[in-house]
Formats: sequence, structure tokens, C-alpha cells
Amino acid sequence: MEVTLLGTGGGSGWPHPFCTCASCYAAAAEGEIRAHSSALIDGVLLLDCGQDVPRSAVRFGVGLERVRHVLVTHDHHDHANGAALLWRRWAGVTEPLDVFGPRSALDALAMWLPPDDPDVVFRPLLPGEIVTLDGYVVRTLAAEHDSDGALLYDITSPDGRRLLYATDTGPGFDTPDDARYDLVLLEESWGDNTTHASGRHHDLTTFPLTLQRLRTHHAIDDDSRVLAIHLGHGNPRPSVLRGRLAAWGAELPIDGDVIQVGAPSPLRARPQRVLVLGGARSGKSAAAERMLAAEPSVCYVATSSENNDDPEWTARIAAHRARRPASWTTVTTTSLAELLRTRKADDPPMLIDCLTLWLSRMIDDIGLWSASDEIAAKAADAALAATIDDLVEAWSATHARVVAVSNEVGGGIVPEHRSGRRFRDELGALNARLAAVSDDVLFVTAGISHSLHRSDH
Ligand SMILES: [Zn+2]
Ligand SMILES: [Zn+2]
Ligand SMILES: [Zn+2]
Repeated sequence: MEVTLLGTGGGSGWPHPFCTCASCYAAAAEGEIRAHSSALIDGVLLLDCGQDVPRSAVRFGVGLERVRHVLVTHDHHDHANGAALLWRRWAGVTEPLDVFGPRSALDALAMWLPPDDPDVVFRPLLPGEIVTLDGYVVRTLAAEHDSDGALLYDITSPDGRRLLYATDTGPGFDTPDDARYDLVLLEESWGDNTTHASGRHHDLTTFPLTLQRLRTHHAIDDDSRVLAIHLGHGNPRPSVLRGRLAAWGAELPIDGDVIQVGAPSPLRARPQRVLVLGGARSGKSAAAERMLAAEPSVCYVATSSENNDDPEWTARIAAHRARRPASWTTVTTTSLAELLRTRKADDPPMLIDCLTLWLSRMIDDIGLWSASDEIAAKAADAALAATIDDLVEAWSATHARVVAVSNEVGGGIVPEHRSGRRFRDELGALNARLAAVSDDVLFVTAGISHSLHRSDH
């Protein structure tokens, strides 16, 4: 199965023609112009046909003359526009054409043709129906969208590849029990704008949760490809969005991309060891959590002590905990090297938050500050060096997927006390040693994460 993406944009495309926002500016500057979402399968089966679609096909050198079946998801203008049918008639194409979709969408399309057009047959579909078209098995699923009878399409090709075309929909769409998709085209309309009416579209909060649900039900696995479509200007600039989707195993295509379904994804394997650095309140914990938001479950490793008398600290821990999904488990420990060594590759990924506290507790446990004489101080130095070596060795050798958070503390004024200077130096050295054996290192500032390894994040 070959899928040509004739468009990957939402209702007003991206950039929006009448908008001057930063996202629209960036999309134009990065040369990523997105028209109405649509996909053409093997040149014969067209999914959605909004206003932009016939022109996009011409622009990408794709002919529509072989199309025998059009599958429309719903009656919104960016998915169902009958001008294409009229243009086809003007071209004198008289091969039969079947147009499928919800009744409301077909009524809107039919208005563009004379009622007695012999070549075009409109066939209304309801959710849960299965039709076979030239060897393609097409199953309709109920979308969660504010259009009467809106459908998603689950299509298995004659060569046994299976595709889910999921736009427009909120996260509550139907998923068959036997779903095993090679390719999912999943809408992500709103990006970081979460003020839209929930349940009708996806945003960057609900998109990973839908991936999590599909993974939990084995509808997708590591061999499946997931592409975000129906994108709009609520999204961060394309280069940033691409990095955020990659952390969830999803891709950001461009209009005109051709996907050979079943061929391996060009997406690099998700990084195994990621170090997330940032100052206090930089958003580093949230960035680390976001990276793992599409995982069915995550082992959260807290290095703080549960027993703390400080009410401000307790409230902060409670707020962090409330932000984490219910499917995450929490382990409170400082035995990080042991955890890294015993974790297996197929265990849920780990999120260690944070190494700053871990180092502080190690220093306390070793008695670095309380050494009474030079001999005790030397012994404490040696014990700390061995503990850090052990962690670095375990980090570099782990089979687990792991994200660890640490503070970047070197940027302020030189600490007044010797102990403060020593801690700053030890943590800076630890971060550098872990970074050297990490697959990716993110630096978070003002809530924006930036990869120090990759240019596309
Ligand atoms: Zn739409
Ligand atoms: Zn805009
Ligand atoms: Zn819609």
C-alpha cells in the first residue's frame, strides 16, 4: 500500500492565510505550507476531498483520473467539497465513481452534480459498516466530532497492510478489538492551544494519550508508523513540533509525502538515555514527563525523601504527583545504579526526578560535610567518587529506556560557602559525565526544551 499525503493541514491550513501569529510566521519561514488533509491510496482510493485537495494533487504531480472510490469523513468544508466532482465531469471522465460517507456529507457533495449524473454513485455509510472495494476492506469507525455521523476509516489493502485514517476526531473514537495498524494518520489540530471544545479534536495534551491507549490495546506497536495530520496554528513551529512528536514515536509529515506502508520508519529509534537539565522552575520536570506521555506506563523514580517536615516541599511533591497519569508507578529510592542495572529493555521506561537531590542525599549519607579530620574527609571523598562512578557506569550500560532530570546550577553567582561551591562542582561534573554517555540531552529554560544533541528539537 502506497499512501500519498495530498494535505496535512486543518480547516484553514497552516499557516493560516489571514493570521500573523508566531506559529504561522514560523511555518512560512520554515517552508512548511499545509493544505486540507487528504490521503490517496495506491492512486485509486481518495480519503477526504476538501477545497484544497484537487489543486494539491496537481501541485505534487499526482493524477486523480484513476480514482474509483472517494471516502469522505464528514460534511465540513475541508473534507467534503463537490467542486472536484464537477471538475471531473468537465474533464469528460465517465468511468464509474463511488462516493462514500455520512449522509450529510453526501448531500452536500451531490449538490454539485445534476441529479441524473450516470457516472457517480453516492453510498451513505454508518459507523461499524464494512465494505470491500476492489480488494480493499474498509471499515467505518465512529469519530468523536461535531458533525452528524462523522466517520473514521480503517482500511486493509489487498497486500494485507492496515491503515487508520483518523480525522476529525477527539480522543474518544471507536477502536476495534482486532485493530493492528501499520500506519495511523491521526489528527492533532490544536497543538498547545487547549481552550478549544474538548472531545472534538486532538491537541498536544490528548494526542499522546490516544497513542498511549492505542499502544495499551496493541493497535500500534514499535513497527507502526503514526503521522500527525490536520495541523493548525495552535501548534509550535514545525521544527519544535517535530521533536515533540518524535519523543512519542510519531512523525510530522509534510504535504506531498509518499508513504510506503510496511517499510521501516525513517524516524530514528527513540533515544534510550535522556538527560534533562535546567534551572529551578525552568519546566524541566514537566518537559521530562511530556517526553514519556505516550507510554502505556512509566516507573517514576523519586529521589526525595518521603519524610519531610517542610510543608512547602510536601505541597510541591503532591503537585508533581497529581500531574502524573494514574498508569504511572512511583518508586522512592536513591539506589539508582542498582535500578538501572536490573531493568530490562521491555520494562516500562523510567523517569528519575531528580539527580540533584540524589547527589545531595549521597553526600549526606557519606558524611562529606561532617568529616571530623583529614583522614575521614579523604575517606568521604573516595566514597563519593566511587558512588558517582557506579552511577555513571550503570547509566552507560543500562538496557532500560530512562529519562533523568538534573539541575544546571553553574550559572549563578559563586556560592558563598565552601560546601555550596563543592556541591556545584560535583553536580556540574556529574551532569557532564552522564551527558557524555546519553543518547540525548535536553536543556530547558523558560519552559522551552532544546536538544543539545539534535538540531531538530
Ligand atoms: Zn477538518
Ligand atoms: Zn496563526
Ligand atoms: Zn471537522
